[in-house]
Amino acid sequence: MTTMTASDWRARADSQELVSQAFIDGSYTPARSGETFDDYSPVDGRLLARVASCDVEDADLAVAAARRTFAEGCWSRQAPSARQAVLLRLAALIEANSEELAMLETLDMGKPIGDALSVDLPAAARAIRWSAEAIDKIYDEVAPTPEDQLGLVTREPVGVVAAIVPWNFPLMMACWKLGPALATGNSVVLKPSEKSPLSALRLAALAVEAGLPAGVLNVLPGFGHKVGQGLSRHDDVDTLVFTGSTRVGRRLMVDAGETNMKRVWLEAGGKSPNIVFADAPDLEEAAEAAAAAIAFNQGEVCTAGTRLLVENSIREEFVSRVVAALEHHWVPGDPLDPTTRVGALVDGTQMETVLGFIESGKAEGASLRLGGAPLSGSLCGLLVPPTVFDDVTPKMRIAQEEIFGPVLSVIGFDEFDEAMTIANDTIYGLAAAVWTRDLSKAHRAARALRAGSVWVNQYDGGDMTAPFGGFKQSGNGRDKSLHAFDKYTELKATWIKI
Ligand code: NAD
Repeated sequence: MTTMTASDWRARADSQELVSQAFIDGSYTPARSGETFDDYSPVDGRLLARVASCDVEDADLAVAAARRTFAEGCWSRQAPSARQAVLLRLAALIEANSEELAMLETLDMGKPIGDALSVDLPAAARAIRWSAEAIDKIYDEVAPTPEDQLGLVTREPVGVVAAIVPWNFPLMMACWKLGPALATGNSVVLKPSEKSPLSALRLAALAVEAGLPAGVLNVLPGFGHKVGQGLSRHDDVDTLVFTGSTRVGRRLMVDAGETNMKRVWLEAGGKSPNIVFADAPDLEEAAEAAAAAIAFNQGEVCTAGTRLLVENSIREEFVSRVVAALEHHWVPGDPLDPTTRVGALVDGTQMETVLGFIESGKAEGASLRLGGAPLSGSLCGLLVPPTVFDDVTPKMRIAQEEIFGPVLSVIGFDEFDEAMTIANDTIYGLAAAVWTRDLSKAHRAARALRAGSVWVNQYDGGDMTAPFGGFKQSGNGRDKSLHAFDKYTELKATWIKI
């Protein structure tokens, strides 16, 4: 763990050279149009870089490079063990450069530097390493055919993958895609969010240093309606993988349908219920977890525990504990200070969205128990303290819509079935948690909850070994685990007459 202080990080930020050009076919290059966009830091408002603003033309060039390398086979037809060696070097390089990459994350999107170092960077490296380690241990199948036939069931890379990712965990989300996409032999065009392009651009150089052939990984910074559309509507992209909002995900499915029917895999929004029964094993532990579930990463987490469903018999006591935990442990501060646990919201637009939801909670009659206004006089003006609303009813906007900020909606319940009905009363189905010491009740809840991940007596467990993704409008397909490989491969049946 680093011993650097906030002023050390600030000095490092001042002297850090930032990569701001697109990365196409092995070289950094300006956008064809010559256009740039200004990338400001939510930490202190500084202009970080004028970043290449890519468009359809750049998408064409990057997809062409990806297609050429895929067809040539310099990566796609390498032995799995050879791809593995390159990706293991990439994982090691991510680790070796983790301080720089963590700082880029914090500068770009405002998360606490301590989290960037201890959560984002290890997870990014792990995603690459885990996928690399797996790739030479997966076997194909021989079908149970009659004796005069040999039926081979094999997996092949899909070809050109476009990966469009969000800003809340920029590098980690990118690596959840890149690990399995590259391990299975595809060529990739990665589009980071316009709000957080820097770490992905730096990663491109590390990939080359690791030995990835030019053109196999291309990185295009820019806006969704420009280069994003250039990729989602491209006729030579075979598969589009996406993490982001449900609104944009829906649009991408239309784009694919109107063009070449590229496969579309979506990891989208959430409104996850965290359900606390009166027989939770340890109310203090549950309260601390409920606080972390809404405050970690400023609440800018797809799986944030935004709906706290509490059995009415313990509600008052439990909400008081959650409020106390938030007040004591989750105070917003300077994102570059290693002791800070809640950083800055990503930008003014996100701030307005979050404040708008807070106003709507007040207007709809929920009881404000904590927070409710931004911290004044802060370094960056984008610090919003954890905010808790009690007496929320399931149809209120703050109980239905994804806020993507540190705003918690507490809803009371009396009966098990009532809790399950409220929990499932959402268009989303990403995650859910349940706290009880009754094993049967926990299993019944886990079965009843329509969500891709269910946690029992914890919030946000998981690692690379288990699939991650959503039911309903939280998406389709899964990141992480061997199941993620399904998105990046086509199944082929080969019949040989003997
Ligand atoms: P967003 O949907 O606004 O943007 C995501 C990406 O899509 C960005 O790179 C953006 O530039 C691009 N994009 C936007 N419009 C586009 C278009 N028309 N065509 C092509 N690309 C376009 O999401 P965001 O604000 O960056 O991220 C927050 C969202 O991400 C939240 O909804 C959150 O729940 C979700 N998220 C989901 C997961 C998950 O695993 N399910 C993980 C993290 C974040």
